[in-house]
Amino acid sequence: MTFREALNWGKEQLKKAGIAEYDLDAWLLMEYVSGISRAMYYVKDRKEMTDECRMRYEDVIRLRMSRIPLQHITGVQEFMGYEFRVNEHVLIPRQDTEILVEEADRAAREAGYSRILDLCTGSGCILLSLLKMEEHRSGTGSDLSEPALETAEENRKLLGISGERAVFQKSDLFENIEGTYDMIVSNPPYIRTEEIRQLQEEVRLFDPYQALDGKEDGLYFYRKIVKEVGRHLRDQGMLLFEIGCDQAEAVSRFLREAGYDQIRVKKDLAGLDRVVGGVYNKARENEEELTNV
Ligand code: GLN
Repeated sequence: MTFREALNWGKEQLKKAGIAEYDLDAWLLMEYVSGISRAMYYVKDRKEMTDECRMRYEDVIRLRMSRIPLQHITGVQEFMGYEFRVNEHVLIPRQDTEILVEEADRAAREAGYSRILDLCTGSGCILLSLLKMEEHRSGTGSDLSEPALETAEENRKLLGISGERAVFQKSDLFENIEGTYDMIVSNPPYIRTEEIRQLQEEVRLFDPYQALDGKEDGLYFYRKIVKEVGRHLRDQGMLLFEIGCDQAEAVSRFLREAGYDQIRVKKDLAGLDRVVGGVYNKARENEEELTNV
């Protein structure tokens, strides 16, 4: 079988299996098993594949046909231009989340923030990208899941970030977190439990359920984080979240009620609300407490 015949076979199988991006995925899996670039493919496409390579290609196409995400087969996902290891223990980094990183990076430059806490860190992609983007930054990534933390730690090493700059810590939100940060970022689970069954199979069956489920109204973690921030965020520090596209109003309200200033909502590339953040104002928070009594 030639490279071209194999690729066409792969596309056809994935199309038959109902994979939306069958064309791209068949190619990426070809690149993965054979190591050839697009340019090399056009030189070699009429050459015979080795039996070993063809068999590996057939195997990975079959895996993808069973809906296993491409990234779980190749073991990697690019995010912010860096390569991250991924597996079934972490949410595969999404392009939407780059909006959160860009906004956090911009705000950190403006305000000179350098100590960052990333709650529900998963693969570590948010914290590690922010650290790669600016050398003087350091921080903590926390997660409930030990295998997720192991993956984040592996990504830290692969990206050449020292264990002093990035510490990964097992913690249920703030439970085991010590110290005060300039900025707290999080892409917590935010899908309403009820809506999880409507997600595409790749997400529903292969992303960790724990990384998706935002409980009944999807807002569980935002509420809890805003309520428990306490001394972990310094006065005039920033809290920044990724949100689901219909959650901007509710999450902005949580921040407003907790006395945050400069509340902002940022949209993703599809024009949907994706990020909400605000600046912590301790004086105002205390005022709110006084007026609440
Ligand atoms: N954006 C993810 C999705 O819709 C969900 C991530 C999350 O819950 N934080 O697949």
